[in-house]
Amino acid sequence: MITASPTSRLSSPVRDWRELWREAITDAGELLRTVGLGQHAERLPPGDAGFALRVPRGFAARMRHGDPRDPLLLQVLPQLAELDEAPGYATDAVGDLAAREARGVLHKYRGRALLIASGSCAVNCRYCFRRHFPYGAEIAAAGQWRQALDHVRRDATISELILSGGDPLSLATAKLEELARGLADIPHVTRLRIHTRLPVVLPERIDDAFAAWLAALPQQKVVVLHANHANEFDAAVDAACARLREAGATVLNQSVLLRGINDDADTLAALSERLFAAGVLPYYLHQLDRVQGAAHFEVDDDAALALMGALRERLPGYLVPKLVREVAGDAAKRPL
Ligand SMILES: *Cc1c(COP(=O)(O)O)cnc(C)c1O
Ligand code: SF4
Repeated sequence: MITASPTSRLSSPVRDWRELWREAITDAGELLRTVGLGQHAERLPPGDAGFALRVPRGFAARMRHGDPRDPLLLQVLPQLAELDEAPGYATDAVGDLAAREARGVLHKYRGRALLIASGSCAVNCRYCFRRHFPYGAEIAAAGQWRQALDHVRRDATISELILSGGDPLSLATAKLEELARGLADIPHVTRLRIHTRLPVVLPERIDDAFAAWLAALPQQKVVVLHANHANEFDAAVDAACARLREAGATVLNQSVLLRGINDDADTLAALSERLFAAGVLPYYLHQLDRVQGAAHFEVDDDAALALMGALRERLPGYLVPKLVREVAGDAAKRPL
């Protein structure tokens, strides 16, 4: 037990995640000044290239000061290159709209249904398909989950429910409690999977109430994080990962292969090692979805395969992620 003492007031208490969410940096010039790069502001695209900048201050604090090539900065900073038209780059790159089954439900893969639980994210990643997805109308939680859960209830082949988005942990824990109650009479769903970047970009989200919610779920629990670089981890992220595991979740990570950010073997190996140190196993390494505005991040398939070969040579097999691409209409993610 730690008792209050005059000195304990000097260490900052854990702050409410909703407050930290609201305090995120949303101005590109401010972000550049925060990391000591104010002089780079004239190279910003007008209007954030049509996709607002958003980055929690705790994530910005993990960026290297004064480094315009910082791998965390490059994931979130709007670039002029986003304005380039690239042939073959579309607004619905993964065929999501074609797989829609009910409001907010994507049922593309056998046994697994994916709920678009929320359109919001704590961070806006420049390479994300979310730049263009029409979330307004496609959120399962909007109608107290009813439509989405009706679909899942009627199809006994669905054994795994995947909460995705956006970021499903952007929902209040009370909203997640509603979902858990709705799942109580759907015994064929034996696994609940959560795809979230919040434990990485805003680890304070994994608070007592959320940990209690997760621990109490009767389903098996899988949390798939999204981190692309070892520098995204710090003590607070480690603590969030530990809490997820203590609540009974298997914790995995998916990354996106991004040119100039993590497209070398040293960086990817360091990420796998750092994940494992946090108790997380690498799951997928995604080839970029071809969304308009993200072409400058693409790594070609030959280079990606060479990187995988280098990783297999230097890491234990369980630390080598599977390199995949999502192809519209395929029955699963396609291995390269
Ligand atoms: C990626 C994805 C899944 C999960 O696929 P796994 O290979 O099981 O990780 C399920 N549904 C949709 C629509 C997806 O895009
Ligand atoms: S869905 Fe994931 S990749 Fe896309 S903006 Fe949100 S956190 Fe980033």
